[in-house]
Formats: sequence, C-alpha cells, structure tokens
Amino acid sequence: MPSRTGLTGKVIFQGEPGYEEARKNWNPYVDTFPLVFVFAQRTYDIQNAILWARKHDVPIRFRSGRHALDKSLSEVKGGIVIDVSDMKRIKVYDKKGIALVETGNNVGPLVKTLASQGFMAPFGDSPTVGVGGITMGGGIGLLQRSIGLISDNLVGLQMVDANGRIVTADHQRNSDLLWASRGGGGGNFGINTHYVYKLHRAPKEATVYKITWPWNQLEEVFKTWQKWAPDVDRRLGSILEIFSRRNGLLQSTGLFLGSKRELEQLLKPLKSTGTPTEIFVKTFTYLGAVNYLIPSQPIPGRSDDNKKFSSNWAPHLLPEEAIRIMRRFLEVSPGMSSNFFFLNSGGALNQPQPNETAFYWRNSKFYLEWNASWNSPFEEQINLALVEKTRKRLLPFVEGSYVNVPDQNIKDFGAAYYGTNFERLKQVKAMYDPNNVFHFPQSIPPA
Ligand SMILES: Cc1cc2nc3c(=O)[nH]c(=O)nc-3n(C[C@H](O)[C@H](O)[C@H](O)COP(=O)(O)OP(=O)(O)OC[C@H]3O[C@@H](n4cnc5c(N)ncnc54)[C@H](O)[C@@H]3O)c2cc1C
Repeated sequence: MPSRTGLTGKVIFQGEPGYEEARKNWNPYVDTFPLVFVFAQRTYDIQNAILWARKHDVPIRFRSGRHALDKSLSEVKGGIVIDVSDMKRIKVYDKKGIALVETGNNVGPLVKTLASQGFMAPFGDSPTVGVGGITMGGGIGLLQRSIGLISDNLVGLQMVDANGRIVTADHQRNSDLLWASRGGGGGNFGINTHYVYKLHRAPKEATVYKITWPWNQLEEVFKTWQKWAPDVDRRLGSILEIFSRRNGLLQSTGLFLGSKRELEQLLKPLKSTGTPTEIFVKTFTYLGAVNYLIPSQPIPGRSDDNKKFSSNWAPHLLPEEAIRIMRRFLEVSPGMSSNFFFLNSGGALNQPQPNETAFYWRNSKFYLEWNASWNSPFEEQINLALVEKTRKRLLPFVEGSYVNVPDQNIKDFGAAYYGTNFERLKQVKAMYDPNNVFHFPQSIPPA
C-alpha cells in the first residue's frame, strides 16, 4: 500500500477512524470502498493529492456534495477521493453582481445566504446537493425559466488540472474550459476549487403553491400539466411528482416570481382538474419562499433507500402509450419513494442556442426522470430491471438524458447527454486532460 507521505489536508485511509462515515454517499447504491479520502482544506491539498495519486498510480475521483446518482462517479474502489466539502468560502461582490463560491458549498445554504443579502441564484429541489457537481452538469430547477440553469449563471471558475496546476477560466481566459464546464458534467477536466456566479436581484416577495390529488387521477392530472406547464408565464417554475401506487402521493409544487392574485389565475387549469385534496398558495418573502421549497436538512444527507434513476427530455407532449408505461412503472414498483418527476422547460432555459454552452437540451417541453427504490439486496435486480425496461419503452417518445441524473445503461451516452456538443467536449478534454487521467464510467474521452 502506498504511504501517506506527500498527502496534506484531512487524510483518512481505509480502516482509520472516520472512514465509515466518509464513504457514505446520499445514495447507498453508489457506496464503495476507496483506499483513501483527502478532505482538502485548501487548493494546495488538492494539488498534492493529484500528484500523489499519479505517482502511485491510484485511480482518482472528486467529490463535493456526495449526491452522485450512479456508481463510480465520485467514489471508486481502491482509489483516492479528493473531497472539497470543507472548502465553503462564499464572497459576494455586491457592486459587480457576482459571488465567488468555493465548491464545497451545498445548494441550500448557498442560495439562502445569497437570498438573505437580497440576491437570487438558481437552485434545485434539494438543499443538500453540492455545487461542485450540480453546476457542471447544468443545474435544473424552478428558476430555470426565469434566470436559466445554474451553469448559465457560471461566469468563471478555478480548477486544478491533472498535473496539479491551477487553471482559471472565464469569458476571456480559457473560455473553452468555461464553455465545457457549463453543462459538460463533473469530474472530466479537473477538480474545481471555486465558481464565480452571476447574481440577480431577488424580488421582495415570491409565491409558492402546492396541489395534491388522489393518486388514481394521475392520467388526468398529467395530461393537464403537460399541456399547461411548458407555456405558462415564464416566471412560474412547476414540478409534478407522481409516486408509486404503494405510496399514493400525486402532487404539483411551484415557485412564481409574482403575486398570489396572478398565480391563482395561472393555476386555474390545474386547480380545476380532478378533485384536488389540498390547494395551498402563499406569498412569502423571497427567502421565506426558498425556505418553504427547500427546508434545511442535515448535510451531507443520506437517502433511506438505494435508488436507481434514469432521465430524459420531452420534445413533444407524451401520448397515451407513454402515459401507460409510466403508470405501469408506478403500479409495479415496490418502493415507497419510487416516482416519476417532471419539471417544465421554456423561458430562459430554452433561449440559448444548443451549442452556446455545453448544456445541449434547449428545445424541450419538460424534463422527466424516474427512480426505483429498495432496501434489501434481494430487491436490487428487479428494481434495476424495472428502471431499464421503462427507459427502453419510453425511448420513442423522448430524447437525450441529463448528465447530472446519469444512467450507465445508456450506451451512446455522448449523444444522449451532449447531443452535437460531444465532439467539442472531446476537444476541450484533449486540451486539459490529454492523457485521460480523469476517467470514469461515461466520462468524456480526449479527442
Ligand atoms: C436528492 C437529490 C436531488 C437532486 N436534485 C437536483 C435538482 O433539483 N437539479 C439538478 O440539476 N440536479 C439534481 N440532482 C442531481 C445532482 O445535480 C447531481 O447528482 C450532482 O452531480 C451532485 O453533485 P454533488 O457535488 O452533490 O455530488 P458528488 O457525488 O460529490 O459529485 C458528483 C459528480 O460531480 C463531480 N464533482 C463534484 N465536485 C466536483 C468539483 N469540485 N470539481 C469537478 N467535479 C466535481 C464528481 O466527480 C462526480 O462526477 C439531485 C440529486 C440528488 C441526490
């Protein structure tokens, strides 16, 4: 076994105190047994870790918020995990309207810190996700129609490359790396130490809603939602979640950058569908709305179940047959938290050209993902097979896949995650990591 000489920061080898906690990720399905964790306290520790790993020929993974959804992305058996989660500095440059954010920050604490200073930045549906990973793949969420993806708001970054060198990227310097980092997916080019985000002035108030229905009204509700949500006022982000029949929850939630009166009007089609069991519409301060949508949770966070996800974009409304496939999955999926999740596209998300940043999927009506969950190892195979069968059946009705919700069953992953941007991403990879030091399942190969 290689000695620890040369490693700096908080170093935990297999068998040492803290190892068991260190190897736990949000999704127990992706946990494995790395050789060593380095919790970097500063950039210097990352540089040392990369040089150490290359000297001893140890496979490398980067980690920020531990929310990777498939295996061997931020943890690898026998490898080194360079974890930036102790690097949490945030500095707001008020006059410039930007924030420098170290990559160990998590989405919830970050957007709440910014909101308390009067700024708005995009966020997803969970407070515990790390900015390190979510930013690189895009970062979808309820504000994507008003201010774009998290990656659309990324204007600069600092990275340590495969030779341990510090690289800075923005619109002037290494702009190809910035382009690739806006949707190209984490782990490919180097380990990012900080991001620079463009900020938006937060409105004083925002309005949220939640509507729930009896589960067996899912077809009716889904059909209304998919017709209504993609073209509704762009200040309104809307999620529809349909859980397994065993769970029974069918709900839509959303965030509107406007008044309760306006939102009540916009929600009319949804409220008059089926027989809602709960309708909640409330205006909060902007920070209050964020707190309502993503209440604080312990970090790093851990799911009770193992989970397998897959994802797509819907270029057209889904026909009856696709809805039947979805219902079938939800009927037979044994897990309580198995579900289908939909998020409306349009607005600022669809404004850029697909090649303007590495994030390609700019023409969809909505995003969809589904996951199966299980506790016992005996249930794993059946759930993995169920997710895969559903993916194959849905293929005629959808396109692509979201690199932040990856699925290693996808063979042609380059086209699925990046469309025609894959070729340029390979070229950028060749510039910053020509020897493919940073490789993992479905990573971008150098051109
Ligand atoms: C509960 C939950 C909710 C989610 N909700 C959303 C959502 O609403 N919107 C959305 O867009 N996505 C969502 N996701 C998906 C999420 O964006 C991805 O899982 C993302 O990769 C997680 O980033 P992380 O830093 O937490 O994970 P990690 O496991 O730490 O890393 C994930 C990937 O990013 C890479 N990476 C991490 N840090 C760095 C770094 N500093 N430099 C370079 N690469 C790095 C890793 O190598 C790995 O490939 C959700 C995931 C979960 C589990």
